Amino acid sequence: MPEARCLCGDHVWRVDAPLQFLHHCHCGMCRKHQGSAYSTVGAVAPEHLVRLREGAAIAYQSPGSPLSRFSCERCGSPVPPGVSQIGLVWVIAGSLEGEPGSSIEGHIFVGSKAPWFAIEDDAPQHERYPPGIDAPAFETPCSSDLPGQGVRGSCLCGDVRFRITGEPIVARHCHCLRCRRARGALHASNLVVPVDGLRVEHGADRVRTYRVPEARFFAQSFCGDCGGPVPRVDEGRGIAVVPMGSLDDDPGVRPSEHIFVGSKSTWHEIADDLPQYDEGPPG
Ligand SMILES: [Zn+2]
Ligand SMILES: [Zn+2]
Ligand SMILES: [Zn+2]
Repeated sequence: MPEARCLCGDHVWRVDAPLQFLHHCHCGMCRKHQGSAYSTVGAVAPEHLVRLREGAAIAYQSPGSPLSRFSCERCGSPVPPGVSQIGLVWVIAGSLEGEPGSSIEGHIFVGSKAPWFAIEDDAPQHERYPPGIDAPAFETPCSSDLPGQGVRGSCLCGDVRFRITGEPIVARHCHCLRCRRARGALHASNLVVPVDGLRVEHGADRVRTYRVPEARFFAQSFCGDCGGPVPRVDEGRGIAVVPMGSLDDDPGVRPSEHIFVGSKSTWHEIADDLPQYDEGPPG
């Protein structure tokens, strides 16, 4: 049965029953919680979510949301469970290392989909919840209300707010295992900008950064209050890596390639025509 873990390993979980209601959710809260294009979640009865290791977690409940969302306190990776309205627990499935035992039923909350992401597969799409689930609707938070030029972004709780004023270098989807663990998603979607083209305008003191000990570059920055991923500054390379799920405005650029496809999730099929690279970008 498939296991998953957070980036630092403080949280490890397993599901020992097929995931029900497995779907991709495009709502703004999922995108901000994971910093990704969409979340992939499924549900099991509580006894089928097995916690193999359970470290400290940040719990955050958006105003108006029926769900609390959990992130590892040390590395910011999304971790389960989410409490559901239907007696099951929602499990972050994007980072599962192994098959979920069921197929994707569709896309939900496509009404709040990110403008920079195109759904290319044939799975059914629903504006909000799928038919049959009667739950209160909620609004996608947008916390960036500061005037001025540039592309705005913010964490899930809205305390960390930033603005991109520089010309982006590239946007790409990354399927490496570190990104999948860090975002709890099938892949990360990152916008790379020059370091002087990013300005954190609020909440800089809330930002925490976890560095993977054995990695040359890999790190995750996140809000210490909500766990939402935020831009990570890499002074050495002169860049900032922006998790695109945290953007409030359309950055104009679109992801142009898939990298580290050689380590992608076995049950995820890439449906678009963008170039794919087994490892890092060429050149
Ligand atoms: Zn962790
Ligand atoms: Zn969602
Ligand atoms: Zn926050």
